[in-house]
Amino acid sequence: MTDRLHTFHGGIHPEEHKTLSTTHPIAQAPIPARLIVPVRQHIGEPARPCVSIGEKVRKGQIIAQADGYVSLPAHAPTSGIVTAIAPHPVPHPSGLSDLCIHIEPDGQDIWIEHSASDYQSMHPSTLRNLLRDMGIAGLGGAVFPTFAKLNPGKAVKIPTLLLNGGECEPWITCDDMVMRERADDILRGAAIMRHLLQSDEILVGIEDNKPQAIAAMRTAAQQSDIPVRIISIPTLYPSGGAKQLIKIITGREVPSGGRSTDIGVATFNVGTALAVHRAVNLGEPMVSRVVTVTGNVGQAQNFDVMIGTPMQDLIALTGLPPEPVSGVIMGGPMMGIKITDLHAPAVKATNCILVKSGTMFPSPPPAMECIRCTRCAEVCPAELQPQALYWFARSKHFDKAREYALFDCIECGCCSYVCPSHIPLVQYYRFAKSEIAATEANERASNLARQRHDARTARLEREARERAERLAQKSAAKPAGDEAKQAAIDAAIARAQTQKTTSE
Ligand code: SF4
Ligand code: SF4
Repeated sequence: MTDRLHTFHGGIHPEEHKTLSTTHPIAQAPIPARLIVPVRQHIGEPARPCVSIGEKVRKGQIIAQADGYVSLPAHAPTSGIVTAIAPHPVPHPSGLSDLCIHIEPDGQDIWIEHSASDYQSMHPSTLRNLLRDMGIAGLGGAVFPTFAKLNPGKAVKIPTLLLNGGECEPWITCDDMVMRERADDILRGAAIMRHLLQSDEILVGIEDNKPQAIAAMRTAAQQSDIPVRIISIPTLYPSGGAKQLIKIITGREVPSGGRSTDIGVATFNVGTALAVHRAVNLGEPMVSRVVTVTGNVGQAQNFDVMIGTPMQDLIALTGLPPEPVSGVIMGGPMMGIKITDLHAPAVKATNCILVKSGTMFPSPPPAMECIRCTRCAEVCPAELQPQALYWFARSKHFDKAREYALFDCIECGCCSYVCPSHIPLVQYYRFAKSEIAATEANERASNLARQRHDARTARLEREARERAERLAQKSAAKPAGDEAKQAAIDAAIARAQTQKTTSE
């Protein structure tokens, strides 16, 4: 059956550079001399360390506990000794350090006791708790805790489970290689996800520049007993964006400010499905992931990497770079983040380490004034007006930027890519979003402080009134006429109120 596909607005065709890293199978990266495990690798509250310096840990052991509902634990990626719990450079757009648990591996890679779970017989909330305890986060980039996304809530079921094998960003091939080599396990994970979401169907969207992945997934689908369709979609950046993939495959649009589940679709990266399989069917928490190391390197390749491996160790595995290194990006050239310290570790969000040279990535010419050509709007997959957003962000008219749906911007970079004035548009949108987020955080803090003050004032007033009433009742206990009693009560209340006013 041929699937009827739909299109999304805009999009671009950047050079792919994907074949560089798909000539070799996924290799196992060796255990490094030191592992650095950040406590904050997911959306939500950071995990709380629960080990001490000098403690021996085993592979898969929880070393930091989840702290709150939207949070995940961190696990030891191998056996060894905790040598420090201290800030360390991490891959983050701010370039700042964050709290990390440092482990010196013992080289033996000894697991904690772990075993498979029979998910079919488990209560859904028990199964979700298992996935939380296993530290499973979305590997498509957002690293949102997967267990929370696998809760259909009041909807009871999410009819469509959509696996995202788009991987549309240039240079990155980890999903492609995982689909080629581990297709059966991806579908085993999808079966678990479907069980939790009670989905009627599983769809897998893959760009047609990955014919081997499509073939491997189709073979696995034929052998699987779950209702799954592998759908080849045209190669067009950013078809791997969740909203864009949903539009291409189902024709439905996620409403502005809404979620895909509002229209009955739950989307997950193919790597996340693989991680769910390993967690449930093998009992293995998320202690590793596949990472593409490519660009200006000796031999680009995908590696199965322990979380916490320093990026410089991974780059070293690919041999000498042919040209002088001019920088490193985590992710791809369109949406990735600059890495300023190669001691930073690979984390759950690390899909690619892209090493740059001046030839491969020449510096952009200086930005010029916007000439209102509207080319940015023509390619914007979110159907925004990037030039207007740019003006509002630049002039700090954040309310207007919000009115023009700034938060629907997926930061895909299509607008910057085509801008003839070379304006780094996405940087302006990120700036505006972070300013709005900071203002909202301040407002929340002052609202909380105001609520606390109001509650305290109300409590003091109530206590004063109760005291006054008690005093008045005592005085009223003496024989006296009704008028005298009331006068005594009024006088006591007035005294109490005077005391309160002078004490404030
Ligand atoms: S593409 Fe660049 S120059 Fe053209 S309207 Fe957009 S921001 Fe302005
Ligand atoms: S970065 Fe934002 S504004 Fe620019 S094309 Fe992508 S979605 Fe549109």
